[in-house]
Amino acid sequence: MNSAVCFVCDECNARIDLREQVNLCPKCGGLLETQYDYEIMKLSAGLFREYRRDSIWRYRDFFPEVSEKNIISLGEGGTPLIKSLHIGPSLGVENLYFKNDTLMPTGSFKDRGYSLAVSYAKEIGVKRGLTYSSGNAGASFSAYSARADFPGIILVEYLASDTKKSMILLYGAKAAILEYENFEQISRMLDEAVRELGCYLFVNFINPIRHEAMKTYAYEIFSELQRVPDYSFHPLGTGGGLWGTWKGYNELFQIGVVDRLPHMVAVQPAAVCWLKQAIDHKMSEGRMFGDSTQTIAQSISGNSPLHGGKRLIRCVRDSGGLALAVSDEEIIQAMRDLGQEGIVAEPAAAATVAAFKQARMAGKIKSNDTVVCVITGTAFKQPDVVRRVAKLPEKVIRADAGELQALLRQFHMDKA
Ligand SMILES: *Cc1c(COP(=O)(O)O)cnc(C)c1O
Ligand SMILES: [Zn+2]
Repeated sequence: MNSAVCFVCDECNARIDLREQVNLCPKCGGLLETQYDYEIMKLSAGLFREYRRDSIWRYRDFFPEVSEKNIISLGEGGTPLIKSLHIGPSLGVENLYFKNDTLMPTGSFKDRGYSLAVSYAKEIGVKRGLTYSSGNAGASFSAYSARADFPGIILVEYLASDTKKSMILLYGAKAAILEYENFEQISRMLDEAVRELGCYLFVNFINPIRHEAMKTYAYEIFSELQRVPDYSFHPLGTGGGLWGTWKGYNELFQIGVVDRLPHMVAVQPAAVCWLKQAIDHKMSEGRMFGDSTQTIAQSISGNSPLHGGKRLIRCVRDSGGLALAVSDEEIIQAMRDLGQEGIVAEPAAAATVAAFKQARMAGKIKSNDTVVCVITGTAFKQPDVVRRVAKLPEKVIRADAGELQALLRQFHMDKA
């Protein structure tokens, strides 16, 4: 049974009908949050007793309601939780896990959010949509809106890799490249697009639905582990992934499935770590910090928050979590480390692993802690970066058994 009740405004507490085609609060422009009836949620709590490699739609009772015919799904969600064999144990942490969302239909975790948000838009009769994208969101929105037969327009950051930009057109949407000096300009433009131009947006938080799908991180991870991790590491862009996961764990707590919550860890490139600045200086709102061009982790290179980032500051504080900053060097090393775990992650995604290593070496993680690093996107869309972190093979041979034998000898693999 569906448990969604209404939208509630973060700022003025206005309650808004879930079927309204709104982004921000019509009264005050604040962010909207979907509220649920926990008594109804409890009826579906049996879902969490076991894990199935299903899609996010396994948990549809916990989303705003979408009828069967409007569900647009490509098999997003239900990704494996991979236990670390090297990175964790080499630092004395036996229970480090990677939630491998590089396996998503369009190669990033954005598919969770767009499957739900596009389906929901169809459900309530939205006719067209606009999104801003650091690259992956564009590919995802493009894929899902094509299948919904729903015209999408995408503004993609000029800093995104060419492969990401091209994928947007490959999936069929209309797109333009977005130039800007700082993320605050983008943030302002998006608010004006809603207020002055009447656009329906699909940007995290400005669209109240996308992060609802990120609750499935909490649902899936808890269901698979049958316990709450001590730490949940997320790369932080707009913060939709971090916030949605936190919301998911809080729901599990409210309906009595779990009796504790994880510490939430937000990871940013050191070049733009506005959240770390806000937490370290005990600010109630985040401010612009740093330069987006100065990091390899382009998917999380926004240098200021949407709407002050107040939800994210609360999430880190309320969970007793951490806001961490990692350098490009740490990220590159983490990409190499992850390769040896069988996962090829883009820099923004490997940032969680870089942050785990940093936190462990700083004594913030105990050896018996259970830690999950969310791996949000594949490196296959940034082939230039793959080339930068891994060299080409040095040895060259001709197709000849003698040369092969010499090579085996060089690699000390000539004896069984
Ligand atoms: C978008 C993106 C992020 C940031 O996600 P938010 O929900 O905006 O915080 C992190 N990693 C990858 C690979 C992304 O595409
Ligand atoms: Zn309001």
